[in-house]
Amino acid sequence: MIPFIDLKAQRARIGAEVERRIQCVLRHGNFIMGQEVAELESRLGQFCGVRHAVSCSSGTDALLLVLMAHGVGPGDAVFTTPFTFIATAEVISLLGATPVFVDIDPETYNLDPDSLDAAIAGLGDAPGRSLTPRGVIAVDLFGLAADYQRINAVAAKHGLFVLEDAAQSFGGLSHGRRAGSLAHAAATSFFPAKPLGCYGDGGAVFTDDGDFADVLRSLRVHGKGDTKYDNVRIGLNARLDTLQAAILLAKLDIFPDELEKRRLAAQTYTRLAAGILGVVVPVVPEGCESAWAQYTLRVPGRDGVQAALKAAGIPTAVYYATPLHLQKAFAHLGYAPGDLPHSEAAARSVLSLPFHPYLEPETQREVMRALGACLADIPVPTSL
Ligand SMILES: *Cc1c(COP(=O)(O)O)cnc(C)c1O
Repeated sequence: MIPFIDLKAQRARIGAEVERRIQCVLRHGNFIMGQEVAELESRLGQFCGVRHAVSCSSGTDALLLVLMAHGVGPGDAVFTTPFTFIATAEVISLLGATPVFVDIDPETYNLDPDSLDAAIAGLGDAPGRSLTPRGVIAVDLFGLAADYQRINAVAAKHGLFVLEDAAQSFGGLSHGRRAGSLAHAAATSFFPAKPLGCYGDGGAVFTDDGDFADVLRSLRVHGKGDTKYDNVRIGLNARLDTLQAAILLAKLDIFPDELEKRRLAAQTYTRLAAGILGVVVPVVPEGCESAWAQYTLRVPGRDGVQAALKAAGIPTAVYYATPLHLQKAFAHLGYAPGDLPHSEAAARSVLSLPFHPYLEPETQREVMRALGACLADIPVPTSL
């Protein structure tokens, strides 16, 4: 059976270095904020081209820390995409603020800047709500950066902050700049299945704003002041474990090579998909390079195709079958089907194929042969 993500191939490559670094932590015993954490933060900052990398306990906490540092709370509106993982919007609600969902660009699946502008301008028209527009969380879905040139401009016009959710895009590029450096602050995740993953939970915030970084560093340790027992604000316990930092340091050594392998594997899929009728391949706009967290197609009759591929021994995944505005957790916000049509259409048709840096071209041919065979067998609906 083909694996959907193969973490074993990577372990075979760097297992010895990972174990050496873990042994080193076991010997020095500084499990909380050990020297590996500082070393990792410095290397992450260099990699992204930002002044401050603040590591933390997960991608979700990275998002939460940024919203807390902005003082987001009840009565605030934060604009975001519904076509993302729950964490992106969950953190807004956790702080008592209100997520306002904005539709995506159907080609890139990322927040559409024009719809964002309209949603911010129209906020006052929403019946029964008097919310203060505060910020925007844009997501770099599947590894591709959103259009920050335009998103930052729209947000600035309305006086809002922008948070880049780079959980899937660490390693990606936009106009010569790394994902993670494209807005005032960015959050990324080191969940094992992300482009740069550890062996547990982990995350980081990136920013060039030194005062903001100081607040983040305080928030991740219970709102500490000069010392841990001097508490100047309400915070979290949201540090990255030294052991996870050690593992990430070993993985960071091979990360640029893995990014290149991902790029080549994506190219191969796209070339192979060219001959299959009805399949829409991922779009990478001029000037961008995806980190290829996922290789995601749109296919007609998606659920049938997924079942047929499963029967043929090919695992696939659907990110995301239900856009957030239609999730039960957000039912109180009052959205209805049809409100965000591009997100809903994407949710019905996307299909992510097995993908990782160590994917063999022969496996990719097998996947695409099976996909071609299913699509030939399944009657094609008239629209996606
Ligand atoms: C994975 C992910 C997160 C959350 O990261 P965790 O480390 O799992 O908390 C947030 N946003 C997006 C878009 C993600 O894909």
